[in-house]
Amino acid sequence: MYQKRQNALQPYDLRSDIYSQVYGGSTSEKWSTTRAVNLTKGKILVYNGDIFPSYYHATCAGHTEDASNLWNIDLPPLKGVECDSCKYSPHYKWVKGIPLWEITNKLKENGYKTGRIASIIILSKNSSGRIEKIEIKDEAGVSLILTAKDFRQMIGPNAVRSTKFDISIKGSQAYLQGYGWGHGAGMCQWGAFGMARKGKKAEEILKIYYPGAEIMTIDKLKGKT
Ligand SMILES: [Zn+2]
Repeated sequence: MYQKRQNALQPYDLRSDIYSQVYGGSTSEKWSTTRAVNLTKGKILVYNGDIFPSYYHATCAGHTEDASNLWNIDLPPLKGVECDSCKYSPHYKWVKGIPLWEITNKLKENGYKTGRIASIIILSKNSSGRIEKIEIKDEAGVSLILTAKDFRQMIGPNAVRSTKFDISIKGSQAYLQGYGWGHGAGMCQWGAFGMARKGKKAEEILKIYYPGAEIMTIDKLKGKT
């Protein structure tokens, strides 16, 4: 519903990629998800009586992100909460080696000038434990300061799975030891799964990840979309 409103001037409502919901077509549907869709038909998550972007991600690894750190949106349900329910997620911890030449190339493709990389250091982290800024220095001592969000987008969001990582250089590679998968805003899917397994209901889980949000029926929203 939110995307539909956002895309009012586009010839479509949703996209099939990560910018909406990665929908694989009707053959990818499962009985369990169809059942969930049918059981929640006509229900909508709102804040202050209006729809909001109910972001979600795979695994937060401890604390969800304040959406205002990522996008131009500042709402109480999206300020970030503690999450200890995604510990058993297969994405809780990850490691990734990225050749330094590859980072140099990606930087150049994005218009940054840098020579051979000599160091990459983390300058600051926010209260959710995610990196705010990193500094890349080349062998001539030229420094480049980037937000971790931009760095992740540039290198590739599936190579750099989150902005919660430690980084060191080993030989000709940058070695990342990271936590979680995704931007971290809104609901943590593996955390929600963990809570559900312990018996929490869907509505309770949503209220934990989106504090202050409520569920109402779509008919009450008429005229606003
Ligand atoms: Zn989590």
